[in-house]
Amino acid sequence: MVNSQLIPLPALSDNYIWLLHKNGDAIVVDPGEAAGVAQYLAQHGLKLQAILLTHHHGDHVGGAQELHDLTGAPVYGPAHERLPLCHHRLSEGDTVQLPDFGLTLTVLDVPGHTAGHIAYHGRNDEGTAFLFCGDTLFAAGCGRLFEGTPEQMLVSLRKFASLPEDVLVCCAHEYTLSNLRWALQVEPGNATLKERWETASRLREKSLPTLPSTLGLELESNPFLRTGVQRVVESAAAHAGHELPSEVDVFASLREWKNNF
Ligand code: ZN
Ligand code: FE
Repeated sequence: MVNSQLIPLPALSDNYIWLLHKNGDAIVVDPGEAAGVAQYLAQHGLKLQAILLTHHHGDHVGGAQELHDLTGAPVYGPAHERLPLCHHRLSEGDTVQLPDFGLTLTVLDVPGHTAGHIAYHGRNDEGTAFLFCGDTLFAAGCGRLFEGTPEQMLVSLRKFASLPEDVLVCCAHEYTLSNLRWALQVEPGNATLKERWETASRLREKSLPTLPSTLGLELESNPFLRTGVQRVVESAAAHAGHELPSEVDVFASLREWKNNF
């Protein structure tokens, strides 16, 4: 009996395809391309049991058909998005049973980046908790609002914020350094942010992933999860040039700031 292994497989320009494997079985999340996954499966003698998708963007679904054809693994994805293929359509409260992994993943609806974006979370029987959040939450950042409103995204992020703090945040892109550079402008005095900058810089110098993060770390340092914190509110208002009466206003100002950073 070996412990589960959680691997961020780099793909395309800055994507991670998350691969979880245990005792020869594997699942992948958001395979934007098939080649790297197929190679990893072959190298490690793994059987792919499931392909999980969070949203319809090509850099998350582009390898799904090829991996399904190669392995026969069923595809799980959001109920309300157009996908190249999907055998199990999921929405909030649905579960994905993965008995070979001692894991049941529960689905959250997290609209904002796309209208039908979903996320998967759960704790395995080894006590490790996972959040596969696609392009909704990033290390020190969040996804751009292509199909949703600031209000929707804030509600989605609050669903994450109520998960246990030890949850491993498995984001789909390596955006950490650029997010941290911006976050340090929002909260220059945040010691956790300064520490994260040091750690992430060292990792990136060696081309190593800065992920997964933990929810606890994000709650301490991700401006988009800190729209109620005095210093963040003040910075967002200074950037906007006027008072921001609600947390949605703070969130919208932060998102607009980061878009143009
Ligand atoms: Zn996306
Ligand atoms: Fe993406």
